[in-house]
Amino acid sequence: MTTISRRLLVSALVLSAALSAGLSPAMAQAPARAAVAVAAEAPPTQRAKNVILFLADAGGVSTLNAASLMAYGEPLQLHIQQWPHLGLSETSAVDQFVSDSANGMSSIMTGVKTRNGVISQSPSAVRGRSDGAPTKTLLEYAEERGLRTGVISSQSIADATPAATYAHANDRGKWGEIFPQAFSPRFGDGVDVMFGVGRQKIGEQLAAVGSSFDALSRAHDRPIYARLEEAPASNGRPVVVADAMDVHAATLRALDLLEGAPEGYFLMVEWDAHTDDVRRGLQNVVDFDKLIEAVQARVDLNDTLLLFTADHSFGVQVDGGRRGEVLLEGYDAWKSAPGDGKLVRLDRVLVNRTHTAEEVPALAVGAGAERVRGYFPNTRLFEVMMAAWGWEADAASGD
Ligand SMILES: [Zn+2]
Repeated sequence: MTTISRRLLVSALVLSAALSAGLSPAMAQAPARAAVAVAAEAPPTQRAKNVILFLADAGGVSTLNAASLMAYGEPLQLHIQQWPHLGLSETSAVDQFVSDSANGMSSIMTGVKTRNGVISQSPSAVRGRSDGAPTKTLLEYAEERGLRTGVISSQSIADATPAATYAHANDRGKWGEIFPQAFSPRFGDGVDVMFGVGRQKIGEQLAAVGSSFDALSRAHDRPIYARLEEAPASNGRPVVVADAMDVHAATLRALDLLEGAPEGYFLMVEWDAHTDDVRRGLQNVVDFDKLIEAVQARVDLNDTLLLFTADHSFGVQVDGGRRGEVLLEGYDAWKSAPGDGKLVRLDRVLVNRTHTAEEVPALAVGAGAERVRGYFPNTRLFEVMMAAWGWEADAASGD
């Protein structure tokens, strides 16, 4: 029996059993989804050929909870909440409890915690003043070993989270220094598929250092398209820096290009989940979750690891509400007069509009997913992905 037909059969059996027990289809949905996750789990010790890291920027435990309640009126309804392997990943910087995206993502990508604001450099870096040693990223390991690589973001492709996959800098704000590093890689031929936004601001920062998209394109014989639709199908290594990005379409397009890679691939997809605007942030999580479900339906979990996590948490909490009520009561009134306060008090949701220090979820399914368990520092996720491939990190360079 194929995995899909087994999943359908299991779902049908659970659903019919639940219905005959007098449960509504909606109530029967939760156990059916749990059964699907178990059936989809790969056997342990399977080695991954491909790794996909889904990074919900600021997507903490309470954010996932609120997203499920907002979209489905029930907890535990997100697809990723059915995945079999869960750990809690600790995100602090070397000197501060609360992390920004730069330290958070650098820690995940390199296995080395650093300072806030620093992009994949050792903690001896002084932000904006002096470099630390570059810390080798998972993407660089993958490039070195001949895998294809992709980086996709709903945000600027030079902002901290995507930057930490392909660049090294002592300040996340130095986009004119960060972005060109995608074209001058330390290993392999660099990021193969790059889809993100930030066209205007990256362009301005390139100009400030005497460069431009055109100059980079010419120097490296690699067009930098302004829209996803402009990249022709014949371009196997497209770079798109747009004003806006359809992350769902971009990710499926990237899979088209990566999944034939003989040595496998590494793909990082970032989707912003900050809830400064709580409805927008939670909707991003729901949309991201649907994308992840679509990706899971395409890949073979016997040779692919899917890992979902966040770079740091965020202060959103559901502190009221009942089944059948609208979760975000009071949102429209706030939205029409948002103010600039740090605290947003809706009827059932309190938003403290800042990053927070508590651990974030790490959820996994597929080859090597069983290593995600317990509480751990976020640097463990680097080790989990390396171990999934069966790789060892280089000896520390000493810094
Ligand atoms: Zn972040």
